[in-house]
Amino acid sequence: MPWNPSLLPVPRSWDQEDEERLPPAQKLYALQNLPLPFIKAVGFDMDYTLARYRSPEIDELAFKKALRLLVRERGYPVPLLEAEFDPKFSIRGLVLDGVRGNLLKVSRERRVVRATHGTRPMDAAAIEACYGRRRLAASAKGFRSIDTMFEIPESHLYALLVDRHDAGRLPGKDVVGIFKDVRWAIDSVHRNGDMKAEILSHRAFFIPKDPQLPAALDRWIRAGKKLFLLTNSEWTFTNGVLGHLLNDADPARPHWTDYFHTVVVSAQKPGFFAEGSHPQPMPGHPNVFTGGRADWLETRLSANGEEVLYVGDHIYGDILRSKKSLSWHTLMLIPELEAELNQLEHHADDARELLRVETQRRRGMRRASMLVDQIARNREHRKLLGPRLSPEAFQALDREAAILKVELAEVQQRTESQRVLVHELNRQIEATFNPLWGPIFRDGDEQTRLADQIQQYAGAYTGKISNLYMVDPNTTVYAPVLALPHERV
Ligand code: IMP
Ligand code: MG
Repeated sequence: MPWNPSLLPVPRSWDQEDEERLPPAQKLYALQNLPLPFIKAVGFDMDYTLARYRSPEIDELAFKKALRLLVRERGYPVPLLEAEFDPKFSIRGLVLDGVRGNLLKVSRERRVVRATHGTRPMDAAAIEACYGRRRLAASAKGFRSIDTMFEIPESHLYALLVDRHDAGRLPGKDVVGIFKDVRWAIDSVHRNGDMKAEILSHRAFFIPKDPQLPAALDRWIRAGKKLFLLTNSEWTFTNGVLGHLLNDADPARPHWTDYFHTVVVSAQKPGFFAEGSHPQPMPGHPNVFTGGRADWLETRLSANGEEVLYVGDHIYGDILRSKKSLSWHTLMLIPELEAELNQLEHHADDARELLRVETQRRRGMRRASMLVDQIARNREHRKLLGPRLSPEAFQALDREAAILKVELAEVQQRTESQRVLVHELNRQIEATFNPLWGPIFRDGDEQTRLADQIQQYAGAYTGKISNLYMVDPNTTVYAPVLALPHERV
């Protein structure tokens, strides 16, 4: 590709301190060191990475179209068409249990920490009765992870239909059949072109532009990185979406394909990272291919393994597979990050108060345990030494036991009210993230399965692509030094 002088802006000089002063929503958070000077090629996923879609409108579109398909082609009752999509019902990182009709929030230890049956919340006893105390094998058959924003409407649709089934309003259907039908309907909505045609015909509405996107890509091209696009979307949709976002933003690159060394559409990730297929050149576009394989792409880019950075939003399809199979560096796009950061900032004082009360409660619990020991010892003394003790010594033991018991009762009462306070304060804070599920990365003091997967597989994460504008492509981005608890100073 010839080098064209670009008319896009470049950031003013920028040093480490400035970078630390960036608003949190504009930062890139490294989990492993990202040696950018050694990265030769930088790849991008399209949907929910380069392109963000207007939510919840796009989810509602998928929800309604899937409902219509179920009624028209799978015999679901017509009144279902009245059902409304609830954008707050589901969050990313949940797991659908298609055997039992449940939606689950799963902790880092793979314990079910919150759940609904259909749309109705399950209490702790119901969760335990269903899942016991064993680790949940969420990747087993019958489960489905809500890994991308595209799956939010799917989980709500399934839950609504489970409610109708439980109410006896879906005769002849069972929860497993409903799970398969909903999967088929959502899959069809993505494949039959109808939804994508509607998105493209209202692209200015459904695909908001980020004015810094072209300049962010330009900065990395100027630094000598070869950019590539690797998307599962097909050519017509990709051309429509990226044309809308990038065409004519820079007179030096009139067409969006001018930003990329190589473009791969209909990539069939995650298969692309392993077996792949034979790349088909796109007539009229010398750098565009349909399908392909990772080894072919690496050869084309003259970059392989750790010389490649791939940026995507799908923890499995984009991040885990490219890292595990190819050793590419990975940057995960987390569209919810800005909203989560806003809530964290809003509740910073509450969080400090919560920590203070919880620290006191734990201290109280240790004191209570000591008191229980001392009371037991007092009882043993009386039993062992009883016959040899003077009446005064007996009275002293009685007095000591009485004092210990009064203190124990006080401490227990205090720690119990602190437990209730911590629990309620926590639930109140978490409800502001999502009333039913709380934040996507944690639950109380536990991290979620999604947070754990991100830490394992993403080299870094950020909220939007245009944040790359403020990242110097020629310096290493350092992760916090990891330490075991005993190493902390
Ligand atoms: P990417 O994120 O750019 O790789 O592209 C994701 C593509 O997968 C988009 O074209 C989506 O419409 C499509 N997609 C998302 N969910 C489904 C599904 O359930 N079945 C088929 N295609 C899907
Ligand atoms: Mg994507």
